[in-house]
Parts: sequence; C-alpha cells; structure tokens
Amino acid sequence: MTEVLRALAPGKTNLCLFLGPTRPDGLHELVSVIEPLSLADELTLEPLEGGALVAAGPPLAGETCAAGADEVVCAGVEGPNLAAAALARYRAATGWEGPPRRLTIVKRVPVAAGMGGGSGDAAATLRLAAHAAGRPGDPAIAALAPQLGADVPSQVEPRPVLVHGAGEHVESFAPPPPHGVLVLPSRERLSTPDVFREADRLGIGRDAGELAALRERLRDGLAPALIANDLQDAARSLCPAIDDALAAARDAGAEQALVSGSGPTVVGLFWGADGEERAAAAAAALSGRFPGAVAARPVGPDFAAVVGVRD
Ligand code: ATP
Repeated sequence: MTEVLRALAPGKTNLCLFLGPTRPDGLHELVSVIEPLSLADELTLEPLEGGALVAAGPPLAGETCAAGADEVVCAGVEGPNLAAAALARYRAATGWEGPPRRLTIVKRVPVAAGMGGGSGDAAATLRLAAHAAGRPGDPAIAALAPQLGADVPSQVEPRPVLVHGAGEHVESFAPPPPHGVLVLPSRERLSTPDVFREADRLGIGRDAGELAALRERLRDGLAPALIANDLQDAARSLCPAIDDALAAARDAGAEQALVSGSGPTVVGLFWGADGEERAAAAAAALSGRFPGAVAARPVGPDFAAVVGVRD
C-alpha cells in the first residue's frame, strides 16, 4: 500500500486590481481582491518507484529539483516549473528527507493567462509536501510562499483575499454575494512582466495616496464601481483580441466583463443566485468562438484540501 496524496490548485481571478507606483525592488505596488475559482489544476504526489533516498534538496537558490530526487511531470508547461521549485525549497528549508516523490500536475487553468496557475500549483505543492512530511499546516508553508512569488501567499489557503504590497501582504476579504464566473481563455499568452512594462509605457498607475484611498474603500466591501482592472488597457494594447472577448461576455449577459490579472483571459461576472447557471449557459453558447470557454464558481479552502488516496 502506497500513500498517494491529491490536491486541487484553484485558478484565480482579480475582482479588482489597482496599480500603484514601482517599488525600489522593481515590483509595482498594487491593491487587489483575489478570488479562487473552481477551474483548477489537479496535483498528485506519490512515492517515486525506484527512486533513491536523498539526504536533502538543492539550495534555496535552486529553481529545479535535484537530479535523482523528486520528479515533476506537468504537460503543457515548458521550462522550469514553479511547483518543482516549491517542492525543492520545502525539502531544503525543512530538512524533510522522505523518499523521493513524483508530482504530477494536470493543467486545466490556462497558462500565462492571468489566472495564477503557476502560483496556485506552487501553493498546492507546499500543502502536499507538508502533508507528506506529516506536518499539515507547517508554518514553513507561509515562510516559503513569498520566496516563490508575490502571488503565491494569497493562494496558500484559497479564499477571497485583499492583497497589497506587490501581492505578498494578504488579508481575508468578506466573500462577495453569490455569483458565477464565465472564463474566456485566449489563444495568446501574455507574460506578466511584459504587461506591467506596457502599463508603465502607457503611463497607467496611481499615486500612493490614491492607492491607499482605494484600499480603504474596499474595507466596506466590493461596490460595483470598484470592479475594475488597471492592467486591462495594457493587456488590450498587447493583445487586441481581448476586446472581442470583453464584448462577447457582456453580450452573453455578464453584468461586468474584465481582464483577469495580467490577461489575456477575460472573465464575465454573473451576479445572483442564478449566476452560475447563467455563466454556464454563456460558456456553452460561446465555446465555438472561444475554445475552452467555461463557467466557474468561487471556492474556499475545503475545495483545495489535501486528500489521501491509498493505492
Ligand atoms: P501570474 O501568477 O503572474 O498571474 P499567470 O497566471 O499569467 O501568472 P502562469 O500560468 O502562472 O501565468 O504562467 C506564467 C509562466 O510561468 C509561464 O510562462 C510558465 O512557463 C511558467 N510556469 C512555471 N510553472 C508553471 C506551472 N506549474 N503552471 C503554469 N505555468 C508555470
């Protein structure tokens, strides 16, 4: 009997994203409300048959797992995988010497699409590694998350959050009223740094005072006027096809349509108890024009919990 662990890594959308000045470390200040969605990657962590015991992971600076140690399988993502870095860093930071594992990621969240797929996978990998090490809820998870990326801390315990700083400061946020989310993926990919650079080029951004005032207004909840994404025009400038998706989501009945994070994915918000149903009907109607169009719903930590499967 071998212990196999599974967890879902929800994609996210930003119900609002306000862009502030650039910090000395080169990252932008921002204020954003992030919502995890039922559109999720599926991660499985299992013993790696024939793998040799390794004493420790690579040093903290390492971006990939040591050869002969853990293995990460993730179709659809080329190059270094953030989940591999998460696993390697968890071993290095905690000294966990459990037998080598294979981490398999089934990607469902569109890649380089503004839905935080890589960050969500990294956060889920930390949860899985802590379970495998017999330390669920290990404080090392919170310590390692910001080292892996500014968007990782908000996804460690998926729930609606307000983030500030460059995204690494995370506060819980009261769940918005019931709604469904139409997700319209793009055929194109956008790199997050490129979109921030384009925002700078276009002169998009707010001063520190305006950003602080918006954060304050969000304390009273997410008023409809606050549902907006400052990165949207930068993403549209790099990927003009976004305009079609925004119009299609509105025409299909979404009360609001906006770019998700740094794009190019577009989300349509359908409010009310029937929101999920209306989003599903819109996704079905648009799937010909927008391959991968899907309806999603907001999810919480239970959805992303690590579950043990005995083989
Ligand atoms: P952000 O978190 O900045 O919003 P995103 O949602 O736009 O990012 P991701 O899907 O996380 O984008 O992919 C960004 C880049 O990260 C891709 O170019 C991809 O090669 C790399 N990457 C590394 N690991 C992963 C992973 N597990 N899933 C997706 N992309 C990954």
